[in-house]
Amino acid sequence: MDNSIKPQKRDFVRPQHINDYPVGPQFEAGFLAETNAGWRTFRPVVDHDKCVYCLRCYIVCPDGTIFKDNDKINVDLDYCKGCGVCAHECPKDAISMVKEEL
Ligand code: SF4
Ligand code: SF4
Repeated sequence: MDNSIKPQKRDFVRPQHINDYPVGPQFEAGFLAETNAGWRTFRPVVDHDKCVYCLRCYIVCPDGTIFKDNDKINVDLDYCKGCGVCAHECPKDAISMVKEEL
């Protein structure tokens, strides 16, 4: 997997002084403080028999967690938040949102 196209984790550094607090967002785009913390209730599962590899899911995923894995679509579940946008937008209904098990 090409790590340059997925979100990068950057440890949070607690501000020591009022001047250390950011005026805008804490991180620049493409960085996250943590991997998924376990609050996802549904996860996307790809049916590779239905998938026609159009890459629409890759384009619409707001977290950039969909990637190509040996010419198949796969999801980095460390960062997928389970929003379901990919499943909603897939033209072949190749992605199902499956409830996470505890
Ligand atoms: S949108 Fe659906 S058909 Fe297209 S690549 Fe993604 S899973 Fe496959
Ligand atoms: S459920 Fe949301 S975050 Fe997860 S892969 Fe699909 S679009 Fe991306």
